[in-house]
Amino acid sequence: MTLEQDFGRMSRPDVFVGGGGVAGVCAAVAAAREGASVLIAERHGFFGGSATAAAVGQFVGWGTASGRRVTRGMAHEIVERLVAAGGASGYGWFVMSTGHRMDRVEYDTEILKAVFDEMIREAGVRVLFHASVAGVRRRDRTVETITLLTKGGMLEICPRTVIDASGDLDLMARAGVEFLDLLPGDALQPATMMFRLGPIDFRRFDAIDPAEKQRLARLGVERGDLPREALHCSRITGTDEGWFNVTRVTVDGTDPFGLSDAEMEGRRQALRAADFIIGHVPGCETARLTALAPQLGIRETRRIRGEYVLTVEDLRRGSDFPDTVCCGAYCVDIHPTDGAGLRIERFGDDHFYRIPYRCLVPANLDNALVAGRGLSATHEAHGAIRTMPQAMAIGQAAGCAAALAAARNAPMKAVDVARLRTGLTAAGAFLD
Ligand SMILES: Cc1cc2nc3c(=O)[nH]c(=O)nc-3n(C[C@H](O)[C@H](O)[C@H](O)COP(=O)(O)OP(=O)(O)OC[C@H]3O[C@@H](n4cnc5c(N)ncnc54)[C@H](O)[C@@H]3O)c2cc1C
Repeated sequence: MTLEQDFGRMSRPDVFVGGGGVAGVCAAVAAAREGASVLIAERHGFFGGSATAAAVGQFVGWGTASGRRVTRGMAHEIVERLVAAGGASGYGWFVMSTGHRMDRVEYDTEILKAVFDEMIREAGVRVLFHASVAGVRRRDRTVETITLLTKGGMLEICPRTVIDASGDLDLMARAGVEFLDLLPGDALQPATMMFRLGPIDFRRFDAIDPAEKQRLARLGVERGDLPREALHCSRITGTDEGWFNVTRVTVDGTDPFGLSDAEMEGRRQALRAADFIIGHVPGCETARLTALAPQLGIRETRRIRGEYVLTVEDLRRGSDFPDTVCCGAYCVDIHPTDGAGLRIERFGDDHFYRIPYRCLVPANLDNALVAGRGLSATHEAHGAIRTMPQAMAIGQAAGCAAALAAARNAPMKAVDVARLRTGLTAAGAFLD
């Protein structure tokens, strides 16, 4: 049987999802649970994107500082499945390098891959791993054909609707749509090469006084060993190892040569930072570097120009939108390209914000949505909404919306938002 014959059944899915990070997985599962036929293409051989390939290791920003959880739905289901599989121990709190308290779920990246496989399989989503979105043909405002580069050669599919969940918005770029520009003075957030150290005596590591941790991190920066003034570590459930987030590489993740250089620079920084931590940080004396993340973690690249552009003012005000499909409470958290610090803007203790459906809808396309970190938001607002619980919630909303649009053969803009919101609430989402 040729590849085309084998693939035939799936060459016209109701919903095509490009990219299998946390947003793409949630989008694909949500669409399939709504009854749509779904094909997902992911360039790696596993799901998770930054969550697994970049080994971020913790989902942060579930709710307000006072403890009201505003991101639930499928994101919460993922936590429950991780806990059941021994890949997480549930919700907790930690102190950021800036001294602020933040809620988080630390998880095992390898178990998360298996949890995503299970959810995708149970939902009946057809998977193409090692498949990259290589080309897009559109007619006027409609994406008609997508070309995938696979291990078996080029494949063409003609989906009814598409969701770009590639983070970098490769599908949208190939479709030639408009992106949001950075404003003067703004820069793309730098990337990070995560690395894993162990064994760590977490009893001693966790007991380091915050001021002492700050002093050690500053020492690392002064010596040129740490690019970031932080000793941030996510513990791997059930082990004495942790993933460190302390490197910093300035790169545009859509520049192929720049990205290749940055991968090598990230690994160089990781080895040097690991030596510093082993040599200076209590609890890490007998550790060694046990892994580098498979790829550099890219925080920010393209952002779509959507039907609505979310601003930091919307987040500060907690603007109410009739088409809210996701809520969040994470602070504005921007890694600058100069200096070793962080730009943090916290909101009130019980403050949360809303993300409207229109931010997922590209301004110039009828049958496409964007899910995850590329949605329509300013650079500053993106600094807050980019965390994984929110990317999962946005993915879930995108999947439900695409299934509704495909069922009626209607443009994304014409999706019955009241019905979408009812469906999301029934599936456990918090929409206030
Ligand atoms: C270093 C770092 C630290 C972070 N720290 C935290 C944290 O502590 N907690 C938190 O919650 N969030 C954190 N974030 C943010 C968060 O991890 C990301 O914003 C989020 O995971 C984005 O998810 P996504 O699904 O939108 O995109 P991505 O994770 O980027 O996933 C995109 C997927 O698409 C695939 N893909 C890309 N191009 C193509 C193509 N052409 N064809 C096919 N597939 C393609 C990729 O392989 C990937 O699987 C961090 C991010 C980074 C980089």
